[in-house]
Amino acid sequence: MGALGTETAFEVLAKAKALEKKGKDIVHLEIGEPDFDTPKNIKEAAVKALYAGYTHYVPAAGIPELRETIAEHISKTRNIPVDSDEVVVTPGAKPIMFFSILALVNPGDEILNLNPGFPIYESVINFVGAKQVPIPLKEENDFRFDSEYVKEKITNKTKLIVLNSPENPTGGVLTRNDLKAIADCIADREEVFVISDEIYDRILYEGEHESIASLPGMKEKTILLNGFSKTYAMTGWRLGYGVMRKDIAQKVTQLMVNSNSCTCAFTQMAGVEALKGPQDEPARMVAEFKKRREVIISGLNTIEGITCKKPRGAFYAFPNITGTGMNCSRLSDYLLNNAGVAVLPGTSFGQYGEGYLRLSFANSIENIKKALHRIAEAVKNL
Ligand code: PMP
Repeated sequence: MGALGTETAFEVLAKAKALEKKGKDIVHLEIGEPDFDTPKNIKEAAVKALYAGYTHYVPAAGIPELRETIAEHISKTRNIPVDSDEVVVTPGAKPIMFFSILALVNPGDEILNLNPGFPIYESVINFVGAKQVPIPLKEENDFRFDSEYVKEKITNKTKLIVLNSPENPTGGVLTRNDLKAIADCIADREEVFVISDEIYDRILYEGEHESIASLPGMKEKTILLNGFSKTYAMTGWRLGYGVMRKDIAQKVTQLMVNSNSCTCAFTQMAGVEALKGPQDEPARMVAEFKKRREVIISGLNTIEGITCKKPRGAFYAFPNITGTGMNCSRLSDYLLNNAGVAVLPGTSFGQYGEGYLRLSFANSIENIKKALHRIAEAVKNL
């Protein structure tokens, strides 16, 4: 257990809640969840499913109707043939990280992982005794990786490459050429796989989403991770999925049998409605995130000592705070305790996050403006 890490967002949230209990007013920019409500049609589908008897165990890999709906959705959007037995439904997308790494990786294997990146990958890599090989994402490269660097780091011990685009925490988006560089490197390496975390695929402000699974020969080597939490504001429902080769899907299903048994039945029926029903609510949410992005980025850039690039996707600002003279962990503590603004230090996402903070803009424009004002005042007094 000593090797297992955590997700700091939940720790900062607990600290912020404790301060609120003492009467302090806190603006929450630490947690990565849409502040919108789940669309009504999806809630109604869940209620209907409850009354229709979706209250018992269902197959461990997911209800056939949802697996088929996901297979069709991924087939259509990634332009690849996907069969429903290549889909495993899980309570949130997070278990796909845990289960696919458990299923594919042995102690001593090397896993390339974006850094800064979603912390659960590093945590699980360490937990299984594998070696993490960080791929630095640098601001000067728009938080995309350097393909030459990645090529050098792929060795005969490499077992897995973890990608995430749009990325948490940087908002970086990988291009088709970036993905192609990786695909070319591992084309003749049958034992090397890619986890492609595409949970923010629909929260994209410019251009089209690119998936490595769409590249020739890559579908069989990719575990595509996705879910309903972000796109449909369904974080509390716990509904996600992985799309992967059938034999790996069977292993991941076995891990489901050994842990959750199955994903909640009526939420799965809500998932069918989410994918098949009208898509105007998710589009409205993205339009709103885009407005908030303008407010938070322009506001951060007016604060002395802070500069911030515009994220291309997801709903996080990742400002460079080196000009404040403080390291990110001290600055985030200072902002929480002195300014009443909860943010995350960049190092919560790995060593290359030093010098940055992560601010979630899944919050109202009013609260974002309040937070910006408080940060500006607090930084002035450093
Ligand atoms: N991947 C990334 C990059 C994330 O940021 C998150 C949630 N913060 C997830 C996966 C997991 O989402 P969930 O388990 O709610 O589906």
